[in-house]
Amino acid sequence: MAYGGTSVTPTGPPGSSTSIRQVKLDKECELRVEVSPDSPLRLRLLTGTAEIFGTEIAPEIWLTFPPRLKFAVFTWYGATIEMDGTTETDYTADETPMISYVNVHAVLDARRHRAKASPSDSDASQGPRVIVVGPTDSGKSTLSRMLLSWAAKQGWKPTFVDLDIGQGSITIPGCIAATPIELPIDPVEGIPLDMPLVYFHGHVTPSVNVDLYKALVKELAQILERQFAGNVESRAAGMVINTMGWIEGVGYELLLHAIDTFNATVVLVLGQEKLWSMLRDVLKNKANVDVVKLQKSGGVVSRNAKVRQKARAYRIREYFYGLANDLSPHSNIANFSDLCIYRVGGGPQAPRSALPAGAEPAADPTRLIPVSVNQDLLHLVLAVSFAKEPDEIISSNVAGFIWITDINFESKKITYLAPSAGNLPGKYLIMGSLTWYEP
Ligand code: ATP
Ligand code: MN
Repeated sequence: MAYGGTSVTPTGPPGSSTSIRQVKLDKECELRVEVSPDSPLRLRLLTGTAEIFGTEIAPEIWLTFPPRLKFAVFTWYGATIEMDGTTETDYTADETPMISYVNVHAVLDARRHRAKASPSDSDASQGPRVIVVGPTDSGKSTLSRMLLSWAAKQGWKPTFVDLDIGQGSITIPGCIAATPIELPIDPVEGIPLDMPLVYFHGHVTPSVNVDLYKALVKELAQILERQFAGNVESRAAGMVINTMGWIEGVGYELLLHAIDTFNATVVLVLGQEKLWSMLRDVLKNKANVDVVKLQKSGGVVSRNAKVRQKARAYRIREYFYGLANDLSPHSNIANFSDLCIYRVGGGPQAPRSALPAGAEPAADPTRLIPVSVNQDLLHLVLAVSFAKEPDEIISSNVAGFIWITDINFESKKITYLAPSAGNLPGKYLIMGSLTWYEP
């Protein structure tokens, strides 16, 4: 063993650092790390036990964290951590909301057991449906992840639903998605991209087409409802629904819509008293909905628009190339006439003169519009729909994505990147405004 167990390098004040060093963590403390923007960081557990966002890390084994990743290593009983590489910052914190988070987990766990013990045809066999809400940078995605990993550690297979189209922790941005979580989430790799159920909105904010967003949320909820009906195990495990940080105006309405559509039974409100009190008031007549206020962790790192934009681009890159460049996407060429591209919403609007005074021209937001190949498609990320007919596009989930890399108007050929070679898994492609530029 490389570590003798006695001498421990002091962490010192917050700040960046390089070289190999050790950090001793007292019980219920965490080491908060922001990996440097240019190089990865290696880290391992030397003594004790520790977890990263709910997933226990194995002793002795080096884990490699990619540049820019922000995470915390938390210990319930004490641990010594060793780091190798540069960080933007790393510091230890002894004040965390972890006890309150794990208490929530304990309540959910008890409810899952109760659901499991109930007759499978009764309403009581439905486990908790948890929705995590709060302003931007309040730690929603992180709390969702912890709750899922803790549940998976105990053998449950909860369903993770991600409604945040701005980021995408299940698949690329621009989508809402769901996937069962069968194992604690890997601290480096994140959620395995196995077979998620994905619906494509095509924009990174629902505001571009709110009706489409609502329609997709409804579709996803219906499919999950059907899956739960046929699967006692996942029904008892319930779901954890992650939401976006848009909580004002239409954003607030969309939260209510999601709570309602998924029949959420537990609403966890992070980091905002006002939102908690509004939701509590609105939901007080629903007997079986608990609205719980939770503290935001001081470790949550705020991200500005530019950082978010970059994170989206990395996520799309990861889809095609893999986290460690371990995937090899294929460049394919198609004739213009081979592709059936649709977009949803917009389209020709009634001229203002044809409308009653004061009325705004409005286009049907869920109308399907065929798109012929044009210059604007360049660098767009399109979804490949499972739809068999165009009118099934909105109600169908998507198989994957392609990225338009070149359009030749002379030869009428379009070049695109796809995750694999061969025919696309569906005929219909959906476009939105999601673009990507290879860095
Ligand atoms: P958004 O509104 O953008 O969806 P969010 O509320 O989901 O944000 P998170 O994504 O959970 O917030 O957290 C923001 C960032 O802070 C993430 O990079 C996450 O890894 C990091 N983070 C969260 N908690 C901690 C912590 N305790 N220590 C260090 N980093 C943390
Ligand atoms: Mn989030």
